[in-house]
Amino acid sequence: MMSPGRSLDSVTDVEITIICDNFVHRQEIPAGWCFSCLVRSPSQTVLFDTGSDGQMLLENMRLLDINPRDIHTVFISHHHWDHTGGLAAFLNAAGGADVWMPASSQQLVERTAGQSAFTPRPVSKALDVVPGISSTGEIPGPVPEHAMIVSLPTGQIVVTGCAHPGIVKIVEYARRLRSGPILLAIGGFHLGGHSVQSITAAADRLLAMDVVYAAPTHCSGETARRIFAERFGRRFIAAGTGMIIRASQLTATDDQSDGDVSAR
Ligand SMILES: [Zn+2]
Ligand SMILES: [Zn+2]
Repeated sequence: MMSPGRSLDSVTDVEITIICDNFVHRQEIPAGWCFSCLVRSPSQTVLFDTGSDGQMLLENMRLLDINPRDIHTVFISHHHWDHTGGLAAFLNAAGGADVWMPASSQQLVERTAGQSAFTPRPVSKALDVVPGISSTGEIPGPVPEHAMIVSLPTGQIVVTGCAHPGIVKIVEYARRLRSGPILLAIGGFHLGGHSVQSITAAADRLLAMDVVYAAPTHCSGETARRIFAERFGRRFIAAGTGMIIRASQLTATDDQSDGDVSAR
């Protein structure tokens, strides 16, 4: 279990590969209303959400050279179909896995997983999922959700599904749990339909909380992408299917050296 201020496990490096998303980065990797990414460190591999459709998830994994059998841990942000739709197909292809999910959505997630083999890992309070990769714990909101925190020696990476409780609230949770800058906030920020004013306020709150890079994708909306691009400048990442983001490319300070994330 985590407690604020303690020195805790971290991973030496991490790369995040976007498997399913609303936005396209590599043309040959199809997009749709969904989110899934693979979080890989030298010692750990965790699948974050499973997209909306098993066939698409497995096909995109194949195109990205990701073998489901190499993945033994799944992190489900919340129970919505665009994050759990590929779970059963993945578990069948992988031959089972530990599935971490908000405790309040355990039944719904288990129903989605069907007859496939898996070990349910309900999450209430913040905890380590694997060494260096943790959960914020269930965050209350219109739909309860938990977010992933990847701890690096230089700071944290926060990965969100839809951010139904609010992206600002999620980052606040992460900051209470871990010290140091948030090198990157990535995932669905759920700002579609929000006013320019409220999106700008959210972007500025994240900047004020030492979020260095922002990669709003999935349900974030086109307007949010535009405003975050304005506010974060070169520290905005236009994430999409097939993009690989390496932590080693993210610089904690805003120096003028080439910190551009030229993810392929
Ligand atoms: Zn959702
Ligand atoms: Zn979603």
